[in-house]
Parts: sequence; structure tokens; C-alpha cells
Amino acid sequence: MGTSRQQSSIVGTDMIDETEQYDAIVIGAGVTGLYQLYRLRELGLSVRVLEEGGGVGGTWYWNRYPGARFDSESYTYGYSFSEELLQEWDWKEHFSGQPENERYLNYVADKFDLRRDIQFNARVSSAVYDERKNCWQVQTEDGRRAEAQFLITAVGLLSAGYVPDFAGLDSFQGDWCHTGRWPKAGMDLAGKRVGVIGTGATGVQLITEIAKEVAHLTVFQRTANYCAPLRNGPIDPETQREIKASYPEIFKKCSETAGSFMHKFDPRSALEVSPEERLAQYERLWAEPGFKKWLANFHDVMVPGAANEDYAEFVRNKIRERVNDPVVAEKLVPKDHMFGSKRLPCESGYYEVYNRDNVLLVDVREAPIERITPTGVKTAAAEYELDVIIFATGYDAVTGSLNRMDIHGEGGQTLKDKFAKGPRTYMGIQSAGFPNLFTINAASVGNFVRAAEPLVEWVTECISYVRDHEFTRIAASPQAEEAWTKHVNEDGTNILRSQADSWFVGANIPGKARALLTSPDSAPVMRAKRAEVAANGYEGFLLE
Ligand code: NAP
Repeated sequence: MGTSRQQSSIVGTDMIDETEQYDAIVIGAGVTGLYQLYRLRELGLSVRVLEEGGGVGGTWYWNRYPGARFDSESYTYGYSFSEELLQEWDWKEHFSGQPENERYLNYVADKFDLRRDIQFNARVSSAVYDERKNCWQVQTEDGRRAEAQFLITAVGLLSAGYVPDFAGLDSFQGDWCHTGRWPKAGMDLAGKRVGVIGTGATGVQLITEIAKEVAHLTVFQRTANYCAPLRNGPIDPETQREIKASYPEIFKKCSETAGSFMHKFDPRSALEVSPEERLAQYERLWAEPGFKKWLANFHDVMVPGAANEDYAEFVRNKIRERVNDPVVAEKLVPKDHMFGSKRLPCESGYYEVYNRDNVLLVDVREAPIERITPTGVKTAAAEYELDVIIFATGYDAVTGSLNRMDIHGEGGQTLKDKFAKGPRTYMGIQSAGFPNLFTINAASVGNFVRAAEPLVEWVTECISYVRDHEFTRIAASPQAEEAWTKHVNEDGTNILRSQADSWFVGANIPGKARALLTSPDSAPVMRAKRAEVAANGYEGFLLE
């Protein structure tokens, strides 16, 4: 069963050039990659995880920016596969912060002895399918080579950071960074003039946290967002006991909802109740923590139309109430996209930041950024002197991290070329012509660990099926891929998520084709679809 690692092709004079052999290679040691390693190891496969970072955690390794934390309840985010782990780990806050999240994933890696199969500081530069040998040849930037029959990209939805191509960035004399590559040693912001570009979920968390520390903060906002109070707090011992006693119910709840969060929509329409009752519900949910105000609301708040607009206006008024200067408040009120068409940033004092004397909001839709200068940022209207620039400018989502690796399938075709007009996959998980490659990061829906666990289990069972039935290759059929891609593009067009210019549809990246990058179907529908496909002998896949 190929459980041991071998090495081949020892060549060269002053250096040993070796290609390591495995049954499976997993790219990424984040939430998904760690669990994929655990499962494949259980199956008896030799597995190598290649991880760009110096430690485990993925998103929670890289996103060390001040304020980074969960927006879903901590206890819905942990792994469910080990009862022992669930009982051992105490989440300290309802919405846990990055340091604790990273600690958790390190704890998991140690508890299940995962590190011995992970190569850190190993950024994959290419993955080439060798048709003759039926294996994936993977190379890292530092020249290491490894081969495996199966390749799994556990690289996350949001890991390829995007820094806009502003002229003059090279000339900037201060420090700058993207939030997704926050230095481990931190950024020295105290007493500095800091500029933050971007006001998505990341910018909102970061701005709130650093405003207290910096001498002056300039926020460059292009699009105002709907943000809602997170209402975080510590978990007291009694609640901790209750959480630990009710994990099965918590996970069951998550498994029944569209995005795998623990909140269920109210089946009533916002418009079928009286205005008083409607407002009372909006207020009641607004006072609750987390995504309840979004995902436990009247169901049609999440459908384009009158109910959505009614709630949007409620949220706009909440923003107006919190900002002292009415001109600044109006700049912070979103008017150009529907509520919920972008992921709702949850905040802890964000709007009050704009009541501080050391914070300036600059509208770069009105006066766009023209260039970065040696001493700051120049917009069409003014120049801003800065010591530090922070890019909270988001990600080339889902396909970006795949495209940054040079992935070649049958006949030498690249995944990048194939996805040029949008992803072409079967259920997000495989693409025709790329046998034994599981693009698991493109198949996820919703709350991350809850979505990742069933996906990993499906991939593991699929690989087990291939091996048990003495097949050597599994690949999406061109017909299944065509039908799935048509479904995503047609049925994905009218959903709320597709309406705004956001990463959900690739609209945040200049030149990227506009296409829904995730499934338009809910998590339960996707799980049922995958189960049916498996039960029918992996219908839609070619097995050889
Ligand atoms: P984002 O939502 O894509 O926001 C990027 C921001 O940068 C936007 O405000 C965007 O403006 C701005 N921007 C981009 N290019 C610009 C340019 N050339 N000039 C000026 N502004 C520019 O990225 P993000 O905030 O990193 O969040 C991405 C996703 O990560 C979220 O949707 C969420 O799913 C996840 N996330 C989750 C959490 C959490 O709480 N767990 C925290 C952070 C992120 P426009 O809107 O005008 O494009």
C-alpha cells in the first residue's frame, strides 16, 4: 500500500537531486490540509503536505494583523472528528482571535502528530501531470521535487493576496504590507502616520484595532460596506460546560443551514408581518452576537427585492446613528450594493473610529488613488503623508491561489488557461483533463471547518474507492464538467452573492473574468449531491 517514502533519481555532482515519492501530496497545512493529512494517513497512504508558511494554520498563520478574529462562533469552527479534542479544547471567546486560532491549529497538529508529514517553507511553484507514469510531479520554489498519484490543493479560498498595481509603490520610503502577509514580528505602528487602503472585512477589523495606537490614521475607502456589531465576549465556565455538552446539537444545526453556520432563517417574509413587528425583529437580532442579524433574519432579507432593501435601510440608519459628523456618516453608508451581496463584516467599534480626531476618511471613489509617492499616497484631490501603508485590498479568490502555481494537466494544458473565463469544474472538486487532482479549495461552501470536514471525507472516500477497485485514475468527464459549469453560471447569476462587485464573482481583480467562484447551491444540497455521485459509483467521473 505504499506507506513508506522512497527517493529516486539521485544525480548531480555537488548536490543530491532527489524526487520524493508519495501516494498523495496535499498543498497547504491550513484547516483543510491538516484534516486531509489525518484522513489519508488513516487510509494507510504515504502523504506529504507542502506548506508555504513556517507553521500550520493557513489563514490563521498568515493573517496576524491586529483585530483578526472569527466572525462565526468559535465552537462552530473547531474540528468535530475527535470527541477528545472537543472536550480538551476551551475556546476562550465567543469569536476567537487569530493568536488563539493559531494556537488551536498547532494543538491539533501536535495532538495528532501531523508535523512529521509536513514540509514547511515549501512554496509550490509547479505541478505537472506525467501521463506515462500517472503521477503528479510537484516542485517547490527552493527546488525540491516530489511525486504522487494524488494531488490535493488545500490552499484555501482566500490566500492569494491582491495588492493593486499602483504606480510608484517601489519608491515608497516607509514600510508597507498586505494584511494577508502580516509579519510575524509585527509592524511598528505606534506613533506613526498610517494609511489603510481597503474597507472590507479585513480593513474593518484592522482599522478598529490600530486607530487607538497610531499617531494618525488615513482610511482610503472606495466602497462603503454594511457592517454589523460582532458583540464578542469571553466564554464563562458555565457556558463552556454547556457548549461541551452540546457539540452534537451545534454541529447538527450547522449541517442543516445553507452556509453551515448555526443560524437558521426565519421562514416568514419580512413583508408579511406588520412594520412594528418587523422592526422589533430587526432590533432584537441587532442586539445579538455575530451573524444572527444576517442569517437568522426573515428569509427574504437574503433575496434581491423589497425586503432586502428594507433591511438595508435599517442598517444604514444604524451606521448614521454612530458617526458624529453627518458628512462622514453619509460617506460610510453603502448605497451602491444590496445588503448581504458581500460578506457582512462584523465589527467591534468600527464606526466610532471616525469620531476620533486622529482618523481621516478619504473617499477614493470620488478622488481615486493616482500613485504612491516616496512619502505617501496621492489621490486625484490631494496628497497624504504616511510612514506606513497597509493594503487591506483582499484576495484573488479561489482560482488565484491555483493560478499562482503552474498546474499542467493532460496534453500540457494549464489550469490557468482553462479557467481564463471562469472556473470549469465538476462540483468544484475536479477539472476534466487533470486526473487525480482534487481542487478541494474550490469546492467549499460557507463556514470553513464545517464545510471542509465533509469535503475532506468525500475526497478520502473517493481515493479509497479508486484504490480498492484497482483503478489508477479518476477524472471529471468533460460532459459532467460542462453541465456543472452551466449550472453554476446560470443558476448563480441571480443569487444575492452574485450581485455586487466582490471576490465572490472575481470582480475585485482587474481583468478577471466575472463568474461565480463557488457553488450556487447550499451546503446541504452539495453534500447530498456528492453523496449521490459517490453512491452511483462516482457518476460523472471517468475511472480507469
Ligand atoms: P475584500 O472584501 O475584497 O475587501 C478589499 C477592500 O479593498 C475593499 O474595500 C476594496 O474596495 C478595496 N480595494 C481593492 N482594490 C482597491 C483599489 N485599487 N483602490 C482602493 N480600494 C481598493 O477583502 P477582505 O477585506 O480581505 O475580505 C475578504 C474576505 O475574507 C471576506 O469577504 C471574508 O469572507 C473573509 N474575511 C473574514 C474575516 C473574519 O471575520 N473571519 C475577516 C477578514 C476577511 P471595493 O469594495 O471598492 O472593491
